[in-house]
Amino acid sequence: MKYIVLDLEWNQNPNEKRRPNPMLPFEIIEIGAVMLDENRREMDTFHRLIKPGVYHWIQDSVHQVIHIDYKELRKGVPFPQAAEDFINWCGEDFRFCTWAKQDLTELQRNMKYYYLLDLLPGPLIYYDVQKLYSFSFEDGKERRSLKAVIEQLNLPKDQGFHRALSDAAYTARIFQQIDEAYLKGYESVDVFQNPRDKKEEFHFFSGGQERLISREFGNRERVMCDKDISGIHCPVCGGETLPVPAEGDDRKKPSWFMTSARSYLQISRCPEHGFVAGRIRIRHTQADKYFAVKTLRIVEEQEMLELLEKQEMWKEKKGK
Ligand SMILES: [Zn+2]
Repeated sequence: MKYIVLDLEWNQNPNEKRRPNPMLPFEIIEIGAVMLDENRREMDTFHRLIKPGVYHWIQDSVHQVIHIDYKELRKGVPFPQAAEDFINWCGEDFRFCTWAKQDLTELQRNMKYYYLLDLLPGPLIYYDVQKLYSFSFEDGKERRSLKAVIEQLNLPKDQGFHRALSDAAYTARIFQQIDEAYLKGYESVDVFQNPRDKKEEFHFFSGGQERLISREFGNRERVMCDKDISGIHCPVCGGETLPVPAEGDDRKKPSWFMTSARSYLQISRCPEHGFVAGRIRIRHTQADKYFAVKTLRIVEEQEMLELLEKQEMWKEKKGK
């Protein structure tokens, strides 16, 4: 499998207040990418400047960050052509890597605007290199800027920041430093294209972790009534798990605890594979539908105890 390390620059609707355009809040103006082989060695690069088709001047706050002139962009190619070239260049059997979470969403939003989404079916499994860096070098929670990480790792700073190809190259350099242990079980899933029905439901297994992106429901309450969503089992063997009771808790079966209006937590135990932590997040779509992202994963005792504590705090809050 190849890795496509992608970075985009986009313009913001410069007339957002008076003429909002929810279909395209950000128009992509540059695509940069670095292709790495399965050993994370550089194979090729891709770069396109994009001639804007929707917004005809660069919004001031964008201009302060990205140093692109509108004149320069007029030499670019229209987005549909750039997107097709890019997807062709990616070829087959690849995984995207980006810095933080937004790039793939904006790529798909722009492709949808031009009716090109068939070229890139989702949901998309990818590596958020900012997150991987945090797990590999820090506490897993901290999120740092690309520039800060390049400086922390003492990697060569030979180009400017905030241009697509140089940021993609910097992201690739950081990705090359990530310990291999973090390439399994730390994938992210972009759900811009969420499954509509049962047959499109998306299952993903990696590094002792199982993920389900469910079909859509008309209202939030119905999501948790679905047996596949609320089902709890071991992500390794698929077997039934036992509850991990807190004091005074005599449940026979593991169950979900609601931790906020849209998220649930469960902690249980597989007799063979150890502690299992589950999380469900209910997502709301632009079309006013609801779906669930469920993750079941094996956790160490320390993390299980932290989750159990969280569960207790939640119960107290609810006055139980
Ligand atoms: Zn098991």
